[in-house]
Amino acid sequence: MKRTMFSLLQPSMLVLITVFWSSAPASWIDNPFTVTAVSITTLLIVQLLELFINRHASWRMYRLEFLTDLFYAVLYFAVISGVEDSLAEAPLASAKQALGITSNWALHSPFLVQVALVVFVVEFGQYWMHRLMHNSPVWWTHAPHHHITQLNAAKGLVGNPLELFLVSLSVIALFDLRKDATFCALNILGVVSTFAHANVRNTAPRWYSYIFTTIEAHSLHHSVPYNDTRCNYANSPILIDRLFGTFREGESTVVGQDNRKRLSILEQFMFPLRPLIAMIKARRGTAASAAG
Ligand SMILES: [Zn+2]
Ligand SMILES: [Zn+2]
Repeated sequence: MKRTMFSLLQPSMLVLITVFWSSAPASWIDNPFTVTAVSITTLLIVQLLELFINRHASWRMYRLEFLTDLFYAVLYFAVISGVEDSLAEAPLASAKQALGITSNWALHSPFLVQVALVVFVVEFGQYWMHRLMHNSPVWWTHAPHHHITQLNAAKGLVGNPLELFLVSLSVIALFDLRKDATFCALNILGVVSTFAHANVRNTAPRWYSYIFTTIEAHSLHHSVPYNDTRCNYANSPILIDRLFGTFREGESTVVGQDNRKRLSILEQFMFPLRPLIAMIKARRGTAASAAG
């Protein structure tokens, strides 16, 4: 009984978020901080759960991990989301207006249809960006996220800032949508992703793990052998991986790249420059041996 109730935790949180946004007063919907407040609250709830019901002892939180996660949570909510708004969302919204693009069909759809539309559009873009990162030199921006050596609630926010920016890009600003439906979808995506990185010992119902990404599927994506990371790309709806043939069943307890070398924040920030630094060193070496 207790186990069944606990397995319903993830779906229950999605229902709660949906109820919250579908009944939120206009003043809350118009306040841009409400969506951030819901994100932070749900993140704190999952972090609290991690303290009491660990999935793996080796993923237990310790001081350095906590401070790193805190740094990235602040970076994301205080900087990256603002930069995303200024450099991507606002120009897209202006282009939409200038070109006269309208989608009244979307605006007049039922609330839940609008939520599902945002989830699909945002995640479709994220899926392909993430897949590109694992199959091209853009990997250098994403690799720091795969150097994490344990999974925890806020780890979805840990990575090189350029990657965090790239993976958050979407074309949702081109659609006419209710603000509450958009915020509801963003909070749903956040909660699914938080649980998919969390060290919480619970197993979601089968129907949930068929549609949404769970810790089982995402931990497999964080596998140690690089080639084994090329699966389960979807941040939140794993259904997209099922559709495009990249879904793999299983779970990984040991995570990390390069023999599980943990990176410092500075190393995470500098990581995409590694190929350039290696090229400069190689050229200097060739020049020195030619001169010698
Ligand atoms: Zn990845
Ligand atoms: Zn991840």
